[in-house]
This record gives sequence, C-alpha cells and structure tokens, in this order.
Amino acid sequence: MFKYDAPNALLNDEVILITGAGSGIGKAAALTFARHGATVILLGRDIKKLESVYDEIESNQWPMPAIFPLNLETATDHDYANLAETIENEFGHLDGVLHNASLLGELKPIGQYPTETWNRILQVNLTAGFMLTREMLPLLRQSKTASVIFTSSGVGHKGRANWGAYSVSKFATEGLMQVLADEEDGVSSIRFNSINPGGTRTAMRASAFPGENPENLPTAEEIMPVYLYLMGDESQSTSGRAFHAQQG
Ligand code: NAP
Repeated sequence: MFKYDAPNALLNDEVILITGAGSGIGKAAALTFARHGATVILLGRDIKKLESVYDEIESNQWPMPAIFPLNLETATDHDYANLAETIENEFGHLDGVLHNASLLGELKPIGQYPTETWNRILQVNLTAGFMLTREMLPLLRQSKTASVIFTSSGVGHKGRANWGAYSVSKFATEGLMQVLADEEDGVSSIRFNSINPGGTRTAMRASAFPGENPENLPTAEEIMPVYLYLMGDESQSTSGRAFHAQQG
C-alpha cells in the first residue's frame, strides 16, 4: 500500500471537485478530502447518493459541500461551462479535480464488442474527463497549487482480453494526463497525475469479478493515502506520473 500520513489540515481552504462522488472510491475520496479540510463539490448522476454523502459531511461538521448533478454520458460543453461558472461564482476558486467516475461496460472479446457500449464507455471514462478538464483549466490556472488526478487501472497499463473499451479508455486516460502535464509545464502550476486504485472492494469490482470474496480486498477508505498525497501540497512538484494506490 502507498504510505502517506496526511496532516489533518492538509486540504484546508481548498475547493475540490470529485466525479462519481456518490459511491465507491469517489465517495471515500469525498469524505476523506472533506475530513482533511476541503470544500468538496460532489458530482454524479444519482442525487440521492450524492445527498447521502453530503449529509455525512454535514453531520461531521466538515466544510459545507456542494452537489452538482450531472450525467457524464450526456453532458454537453454547455453543462461543463455552466459548472465552471457556478464554481467561480459560488467559491471563487478551484484547487483540485478527481476524475473518478467510470463505467465498466461489457466484458467481451473485441470480435463481439457492441459499438454502442464502446462509445458509451469512451464517453464516460475518457471524453467527459477531457471536456471537464478543458472547461476547468482557466479556474485551475488561477490556483497556486492545483492538482488534477485521473483514475486509471491495471488494464490501462497492460491490455487484457475481454476488457475492451474499459481497458482502452484507461490507456487513453493515461495519455490525456501526460499531454496535459506537458502542456501546462512552465505555463501554470497545475499538476496532472493518475492513480491505479488496484483491486478495491466496490460495486464495480464485484461486477467484474463476481466469484471473488470482497473481504480479501482493501476497502476504498484503505487506499486513500495516495489520493491525499496527490491532492496535498507535498506533491506540488510531481506531474505527469502514474501512481499505484496499492504499491509502496
Ligand atoms: P463504482 O463503485 O462503480 O463507482 C463508479 C462511480 O462512477 C459511481 O459513483 C457512478 O455513479 C459514477 N458514474 C458512472 N457513470 C456515470 C455517469 N454517466 N455520470 C456520472 N457518474 C457516473 O466503481 P469504483 O470501483 O468506485 O471505481 C472508481 C474508479 O476507480 C473508476 O474510475 C474505476 O475505473 C477505477 N478502478 C476501480 C478498481 C476497483 O477495483 N474498484 C480498480 C481499478 C480502477 P452511480 O453511483 O450513479 O453508478
């Protein structure tokens, strides 16, 4: 496991946007960032799930979060521009983005892979991250310490039979992260990195490996050290790198 002891006030006064914040790893990250002082913007497609995360943050008296419902499958340029404008008006700054939302799609060989699923997976896992980042760049450039984290996977580093569009979307996510890191190098202080969570006890993992005992996997809370490290200022000079949450 990646080791990092985060100070309690690591993210004080920071505003951080998290996609897919209603469940799984995104929910754990939202709660963890809020516990370390951040104002989190919870983005997702299921308002009830986002409200339950909101309530948990509020009941702990962490900084008051915000909810931004958005379906990344259908979101338009206009929606992302509206999000950027809302963040600027409500908070005045944006210091971090965690691109976490993804869909698994179908586990099938390419010879049988449906085009409709292919397009949907690339839209949610890759294109939405591009559209969202592009609209957030002006705000992120104003922050002295902005950090953008993309979520990768083991199959984003080595292709695996039957993982189709999901695997390809994660390879491309690594590419997007590297292109952004290179473009902003020397232009702004935004850093871009990726995290491969590794097998983690969530609904997505259970649907990919139905025969597996989830008790043998770390929880989403247990893989949070690398997320804190990359969101906090100690990683300020790190950009363009791929991290693995479960490797030391
Ligand atoms: P999860 O429990 O399925 O969570 C995925 C999140 O993405 C959910 O909050 C989901 O919202 C959201 N989402 C999906 N489609 C969306 C859309 N169209 N619009 C907005 N939000 C959408 O999966 P997870 O395991 O926490 O995965 C989190 C990230 O880690 C993903 O990028 C995944 O690829 C990556 N990852 C996970 C593992 C693992 O073992 N768990 C391993 C490697 C990589 P709903 O709640 O509405 O479905």
